Amino acid sequence: MSPPGRPEGHSQSAQPAASPMRHGIALGIVADDFTGATDIASMLVRGGLRTVQLIGVPQGAVPAELAQADAVVVALKSRTTPAAQAVADSLAALRWLQAAGARQFVFKVCSTFDSTAAGNIGPVAEALLAALGGSPGGSPDGLPGGLAGGASIRPQALICPAFPENGRTVFRGHLFVGDQLLSDSGMRSHPLTPMTDANLVRVMQAQSQGRVGLLRHDTVAQGAAAISDRLATLRADGVSLVIADAVDNADLLRLAEGAAALALWVAGSGLALGLPALLAARGWVTLDAQAALLDRLDGPAAVLAGSCSLATQGQVAHWTAAGRPALQIDPAALARHEPVVERALAWAAGLGGRPGGTSGGTPLFYATTDAATLAQTQAQWGVAEAGALVEQALAGIAQGLLARGTQRLVVAGGETSGAVVQALGVHTLRIGAAICPGVPWTQALRAAGQASLQLALKSGNFGGPDFFAEALAAA
Ligand code: ADP
Repeated sequence: MSPPGRPEGHSQSAQPAASPMRHGIALGIVADDFTGATDIASMLVRGGLRTVQLIGVPQGAVPAELAQADAVVVALKSRTTPAAQAVADSLAALRWLQAAGARQFVFKVCSTFDSTAAGNIGPVAEALLAALGGSPGGSPDGLPGGLAGGASIRPQALICPAFPENGRTVFRGHLFVGDQLLSDSGMRSHPLTPMTDANLVRVMQAQSQGRVGLLRHDTVAQGAAAISDRLATLRADGVSLVIADAVDNADLLRLAEGAAALALWVAGSGLALGLPALLAARGWVTLDAQAALLDRLDGPAAVLAGSCSLATQGQVAHWTAAGRPALQIDPAALARHEPVVERALAWAAGLGGRPGGTSGGTPLFYATTDAATLAQTQAQWGVAEAGALVEQALAGIAQGLLARGTQRLVVAGGETSGAVVQALGVHTLRIGAAICPGVPWTQALRAAGQASLQLALKSGNFGGPDFFAEALAAA
């Protein structure tokens, strides 16, 4: 990877009249999956930051859109890859963001802390922290040495996946999904990252070399000064990784202020709530009320579901119960090399009409199934193999649809979304308005002559029962 230069025109004195207050990229985020990246980008747009999401670490020239961005999120597919690969990819993303001018850094993880005993949150967080300067006052990579008015960067990571608007809260280090402990929620039977322990200090310590500590809610509730003091005490005790409690947005705002000088935030989208104001207060960005505006596209749409989360199961059931067109993708047929993709496209073509902006004739393609059926399929074909077969099939359907004029795709599932955007050759997304908390419409920034495309990429757990129709109506 060759590091990028500044975006063209960035340092010239004559700025476009429409954007007289350009500051350059202030915020760089390394995200461990695609929908997670979109989710945090959505939060930043809502706060008034012009945000671009890059799919993977770019090769070659800096996309021109970066000249207009306040925040850049690099979406990796590193949640379930081997830890060494996840570390290498994350460091490459960090170096790219540093070279592009970013000054504050976040490692975005899932609000349900999706990981395995081997990582990858711990190994990646520690590698990023080391690269961002293991000692106060500077970094071996030449990172700007000061935050918040010249104070030194603190060699510590704040870790908080809480996203109260989506029911994810952390108390005494334990992660709750709604009223349930993480380990009692549907996440316990996730196909790739089953979460069987809700104690994040324990989960994080098992994946990390450094010491993991806890910033308890009683301290968070006292405000930024108390948070900053406690972090310093933990640092003096050799704690480099700090799990923070947060049960509501006020806690997240206090954490953002109190942890502003830390080298790294390991965060769900919730913690990003406080970032736009923090960056504006430093003079690094000018907030923009139009940050979420995308083009209007009225072409055909489709829905692709590859998540087996309880929320997506409910959304598929809701769609089919309403009598809307739906086609189930059978992993066994894929394993037998049947022409599943071709059949699916022929079925969609047979629906006729031009669905346009409503969900009436819009097709849903789904592999979504319940935990028992999933377990059977995985036992027969293997977890990774079955997952890959399904991802490839849904990605192939997306390619076929795009070739036939579809302009808007709703995709359910993080890994599934990753496979779809990769197959479509999408590398850069402008982030638009949220459909539900954590899920925005996005617009693919395509080369001249390529068809326009908008994507709603949903992490499996997100959205209410009628999410698919809501998304289509919102576009
Ligand atoms: P989520 O966001 O809910 O985690 P993902 O798309 O990230 O959803 O992960 C779901 C995984 O399960 C994908 O790899 C997908 O291909 C796989 N999968 C989906 N349906 C099936 C199925 N019927 N049998 C086996 N694997 C499946």
